[in-house]
Amino acid sequence: MDLGIRGKKAIVCAGSKGLGRGCAEALAEAGVDLVLNARGAEALAETANEIEARYGVTVIPVAADITTPEGRAAVLDAAGEVDILVNNAGGPPPGLWSDWSRDDFIKALDGNMLSPIAMMQAVMPGMMARGWGRVVNITSAAVRAPIPQLGLSNAARAGLTGFVAGTARQVAHAGVTINNMLPGIHATDRADALDGAVVRAEGISLDEARARRAAGIPARRYGTASEFGATCAFLCSQHAGFIVGQNILVDGGAANQTM
Ligand code: NAP
Repeated sequence: MDLGIRGKKAIVCAGSKGLGRGCAEALAEAGVDLVLNARGAEALAETANEIEARYGVTVIPVAADITTPEGRAAVLDAAGEVDILVNNAGGPPPGLWSDWSRDDFIKALDGNMLSPIAMMQAVMPGMMARGWGRVVNITSAAVRAPIPQLGLSNAARAGLTGFVAGTARQVAHAGVTINNMLPGIHATDRADALDGAVVRAEGISLDEARARRAAGIPARRYGTASEFGATCAFLCSQHAGFIVGQNILVDGGAANQTM
């Protein structure tokens, strides 16, 4: 299917690896030029070069922490006018509800709520003026079905979800859509970190931890960054203009719910 977005320009935040990279690759495959961000310059340059070589699009790497005002300014300066924004950042650490301080919550809110909101506030006025735009926020399945040990993530992402629910309905008239993608477990470094915590807590092997988690998923496997990215690219396509303010669960059926 031609996604109808060849020649458009996208910012993909936190995209040198994992789900962000999956989104970047799928957009590049559809002919979208990229401003690609992550903190680590080396991995970012490698990913940017690989994507440029494979898909023949322009990829501008910007090594910066997207959760800081300076980092966001660097990405926005490099990008100029953009048509597509994919918001993403690393997730907060696991822990126990009674241990987190105000500073822990502020850090989580900065990373997973206020940074994506700031990016939307920066790029959406231009999108609206030009009559077309797509925003996809990578959040988490924890928005629908909380993961107890990820309370910082549950809280911050719920805040972003509330902001998007109202805002998406205020910008849709100008051809701009905002939607959230809610990943369940996907085979990325983040999944390795979460499974590593189980390995340490329970004294089992990494393979056992993965097999145990996969057994609880109707699809009986972890998701892949490329299938996640393909869904993102569709939401950014011409065909998805009537999908507004939705929370798309990509979890292999793991959340046991009717809707
Ligand atoms: P990942 O494999 O660890 O990749 C994270 C990517 O983001 C890397 O490119 C990393 O590069 C970059 N990054 C992290 N923090 C950044 C920051 N502050 N500024 C700029 N770039 C940053 O993670 P993932 O699995 O793709 O997860 C992406 C998001 O989805 C996370 O918020 C995660 O919590 C959420 N999620 C993931 C899963 C899953 O199963 N994978 C499930 C639910 C939710 P640098 O380290 O070089 O910056």
